[in-house]
Amino acid sequence: PVTAQLVASRVLDVPDFPKSGVIFKDLTPLFADGAVFREVIDGIVAHYGRDSFDVVVGIEARGFVIAAAIAYATGVGVVPVRKAGKLPRPAFNASYALEYGEAVLEVHEDAFAAGQRVLVVDDVLATGGTAAATLDLVSRAGGTVVGFTVLLELSFLAGRDRLAPRPVHALLTV
Ligand code: IMP
Repeated sequence: PVTAQLVASRVLDVPDFPKSGVIFKDLTPLFADGAVFREVIDGIVAHYGRDSFDVVVGIEARGFVIAAAIAYATGVGVVPVRKAGKLPRPAFNASYALEYGEAVLEVHEDAFAAGQRVLVVDDVLATGGTAAATLDLVSRAGGTVVGFTVLLELSFLAGRDRLAPRPVHALLTV
């Protein structure tokens, strides 16, 4: 599809970032290209349909950029899932394993009205740890996850399998 080619055309491979042996996918050229960014956002909205979600969750930090654009395009609001210690009011937290140690994500306890339909977005799906923790948080806070979408899925890290049976939508899978 057109959007997959567009994403591919605006991703840069950065060897040895953030550490030796990792090839980091840099999506900043995609965000910086207004026409491509708009096409990408419109592609996500078209995939789910305008009236299929009530709020968009963005995962800190690049997920915020995508979530805000989808929200503005569809007239819904944005809820942030943030790294530990950033949210000012009572929050649920979920920890997940990193290669060394663990990380914690949080969402405000009152972020969702009961049964609110939630679309969760991030830039890249790698091992799926970040997404799994986020989907768990949304459910605990009373939201109903209707979808998880990323611009780019790194299939060799099997994040999709980890999230199964929850469906994952990716504009581009490599
Ligand atoms: P996971 O938890 O292993 O799936 O990693 C996904 C999270 O790490 C997302 O929030 C991404 O923003 C970030 N991430 C992992 N790998 C990359 C990459 O190559 N490029 C950009 N972000 C990445």
